[in-house]
Amino acid sequence: MKIVITPNEILNHPTREVTEFDENLRKTVREMEEILRNQRNPEGVGLSANQVGLNLRLAVVRLNPDEQDSTPHFLTIVNPRIVSQSADITEEYEGCLSIPNHYGPLPRAQAVTVQFQDLKGETLTIKATAFLARIFQHEIDHLDGKLITERSAGPFLTEAELEEKFREKKPS
Ligand SMILES: [Zn+2]
Repeated sequence: MKIVITPNEILNHPTREVTEFDENLRKTVREMEEILRNQRNPEGVGLSANQVGLNLRLAVVRLNPDEQDSTPHFLTIVNPRIVSQSADITEEYEGCLSIPNHYGPLPRAQAVTVQFQDLKGETLTIKATAFLARIFQHEIDHLDGKLITERSAGPFLTEAELEEKFREKKPS
């Protein structure tokens, strides 16, 4: 299992609903978590199944994305959909593991409620805000075949340019 990099057709099409909640599914999720755990520079905070070459509507999300130095906690969302979102929109630079060194300003809802199934097929909902809400929206976009390059009006920056931009803003 390896992270798929653009251009690759699997990233441009909606994924298939998961119907089998079996050992295979749990194994897939364990492998995806392992990829996220080992991902550095940038750290991995979310990964969709089509990003590892699988046509399945599921993603793994890091629940504590702001605590980069602590143990990651992961949530698997199977067949997720956004059931409600805040009218509040925030714009932040966003990157993607499948589009290395490419960051674009992207407006997202500040809060979302996501309905999904767990690994047993139970239906659950979760409400997320801020960075975590952004990650849910990013991953669900992946599962719908949408990438940040379509979502962002740009301009896209490299990591070095992004750092430079934020250095300018900081008071010295
Ligand atoms: Zn991505």
